[in-house]
Amino acid sequence: MPVMPETAEELYARAAGALHMPPVETWDTFPFDGEMHPRVLRPPVDVEEPRLGNGGVGCRSCAAPEGTYPWTTERWKLHAIHPPTGLPIIVILEPRAHYADPGDLPDELAAELGVMLARIERAVRAIPNVGRVHVCRWGDGSEHLHWWFMARPARFPQLIGSFAAIWDDILPPLPEEIWRDNLAIVLRELSRSG
Ligand SMILES: [Zn+2]
Repeated sequence: MPVMPETAEELYARAAGALHMPPVETWDTFPFDGEMHPRVLRPPVDVEEPRLGNGGVGCRSCAAPEGTYPWTTERWKLHAIHPPTGLPIIVILEPRAHYADPGDLPDELAAELGVMLARIERAVRAIPNVGRVHVCRWGDGSEHLHWWFMARPARFPQLIGSFAAIWDDILPPLPEEIWRDNLAIVLRELSRSG
């Protein structure tokens, strides 16, 4: 008999009573200390909540005025998370048109996306003392397709990897004037490579 993909109910039945705490105390990058335990796994919902801007209706990206994007091309637009957060800068790339998931992009736009990812990563990496740029797509918040570029500071081994997204909320916000300089560097590099 063929093995069927696990249903939500089966996953819940198998996992709810069998959660375990990974050895976070051995992970250098784990941001928290103290006694910890997994949260109770809640049963599956019948239907997931639609994402923000579902189907383009009430979509903030589609409705945002052109002026809110410091860098745009014919088919793409880029904005920076503001006010500043803990990381040196976070910029977000979106297609102008409302596409939900990467697999929805027509081939031409998908190919151009590859070029955009490289250009923007390179531009963010040009900020002095940035150790790496994490290029991420989560996809469960706003439906309008968007890619994160998270600059993480160099020379802090604790800040490497995926927890950089959490450290972003733990580090105190970057002073505004430094953030502005960082954004200016990104925009300068983008104009140079464009
Ligand atoms: Zn949209």
